[in-house]
Amino acid sequence: MKQLLMVFGLFFTLTAGQAVVQEESVSSFNVPVKSLKEGEKGFVHPDSVSTGHLTVVPMSIKGFDGAKGDKINSALRLLEDVVNSDEFKSRVINFVNTKGTRAFASNKNLTNEQIYAQFMEGRETLQPNTPNEMNYYLALYNKPWSRVIGYTDGSINQININWKYFKGNEISDVAANLAHEWTHKIGFDHKSAAEHDSAPYAIGYIVGDIARARLSAGLH
Ligand SMILES: [Zn+2]
Repeated sequence: MKQLLMVFGLFFTLTAGQAVVQEESVSSFNVPVKSLKEGEKGFVHPDSVSTGHLTVVPMSIKGFDGAKGDKINSALRLLEDVVNSDEFKSRVINFVNTKGTRAFASNKNLTNEQIYAQFMEGRETLQPNTPNEMNYYLALYNKPWSRVIGYTDGSINQININWKYFKGNEISDVAANLAHEWTHKIGFDHKSAAEHDSAPYAIGYIVGDIARARLSAGLH
C-alpha cells in the first residue's frame, strides 16, 4: 500500500508539474488548424472585412547577441510579413474550431472578424496608444533544466524566451510563438495549453503555418 501511494504521489507530481509547465511550453507550433476555404459553405470573403496593417516594433531586445539577434530579427520580419498577408486575414476570419464552428474559444464574445480587427488595431492592454504596432519587449534567458519555452503575463510588457528552445526552433516556430505571446498582450487568454482553439494558440498555429510555407517557398 505504501508503494502504491508513492506511485500515485509521483503521478500527481508529474501531472501537476506538466500543467504548470505547459502554460507556454508548446515546443512546436506545427499543429493543424482549420480555416474555411473559398467555395466552402460559410466562407466569409476577406474583401467584406477591412484590412488592417501592423508594423512590428522591437522596443527592447535583451540577451540576443550575434547570431541570436539575427535569428530573432528574422523571426520578427517574418511575423510582420505574415500578419499583413491576405492569407492571414482570410485564415483568421475563416478559422473553424474543433467543433466545426467558425469561432475561437475564450473569444470574449467576439466574432472572428472582430478578433481580426482587434489584432490589427495593435493596441496592447499595457500600451494602448501605439495603434497599428506590435510592440515587443523580449528577453532571452537560459534555463537548461526547464521545460518552459517562454513566459509572460498580462501585467508586464516583457516576453521571456528560453534559449534552450529558441536555439533549435525554426524561425517560423519563433514567429508563431511571438504571435501567441502578443495575442496575450492584446487581452486574449487560454484556459490551458490544451485549448488549441483559443485565440493565442490558434493564431499562433496560423502564423506558424503561413510562415513555414513562406520559408519553404523561399519567400523569406
Ligand atoms: Zn499562452
